[in-house]
Amino acid sequence: MIELTIERGLLDDNDRAAQVNRDRFRKAGVYVLNLMSGPGAGKTTLLEQTAQRLRDRLRMGVIVGDIQTSRDADRIGRHGVPVHQINTGGGCHLDARMLEAALDAMDPASLDLLIVENVGNLVCPAEFDLGEHDKAMVLSVTEGADKPAKYPLMFCQSRLMILGKVDLLPYLDFDCDAAIADARALNPGLEVLRLSSKTGEGLEAWTDWLVGRWRAVREGR
Ligand code: MG
Ligand code: ZN
Repeated sequence: MIELTIERGLLDDNDRAAQVNRDRFRKAGVYVLNLMSGPGAGKTTLLEQTAQRLRDRLRMGVIVGDIQTSRDADRIGRHGVPVHQINTGGGCHLDARMLEAALDAMDPASLDLLIVENVGNLVCPAEFDLGEHDKAMVLSVTEGADKPAKYPLMFCQSRLMILGKVDLLPYLDFDCDAAIADARALNPGLEVLRLSSKTGEGLEAWTDWLVGRWRAVREGR
C-alpha cells in the first residue's frame, strides 16, 4: 500500500513535467517520438540509417538515453544530426525531467523531428510519459514471439511496432503472425512495420511513416 502511494506520487510528478515538455514541443513546432525496446533490439542502428535517409526531408535531432557511455550518441552524431546523450547513472528508463534537462541542450525549435531513444528495457520506459506525441517500439525477431504476451504494457502504449532484424527470420523460429496477433490483441490499432537495418527492407516505409506523422501532427490531425 505504501509502495503504491509512493509510485503514484512519482508518476504524478512525472506527468506534470511531461505536460511542460508537451507545451514546449507544441510551441517549437516539433514532432517528438519516444522510441523504446529491450536492449540490443537495434534502435541505434535504425537511427543511424534514419538520419542518413531523412537528411533531405526533415530536420532531425536525437536524444539518447543510456545508463552509461556516450557510444550511441557518438554513432548517431557521425551522420550529421544534432544528438544529445543522457546518462541515467543506473536508472533503467527516461523520465520527463531528464528529457526537460536535455532539451535545454537541443533547441527543439530548430527541428522538425525529435526522436528520443529510450534506455533499452522492455518494461518501465513505457510507464513514463515524456510529453512526446507518439511512442514506437522495436521488437527484434531474435527476442522471441512471446514478448507481447509477457511484457504487455509497451505494446499497449505504442502507435507503431517495428519487427526488427527480419533478415534473420530464415535462421529462427520466430512466428511473425503470432507476435503481431498477440500485440494487436492488446492494442487493436497498433501499426506494424517489418524492417531490417542490415538489408534496408522496410526503411523507406519507416521514414515515410515518420514524415507522415510529422505532417499529421503539424496539421493538427
Ligand atoms: Mg542504443
Ligand atoms: Zn526503469
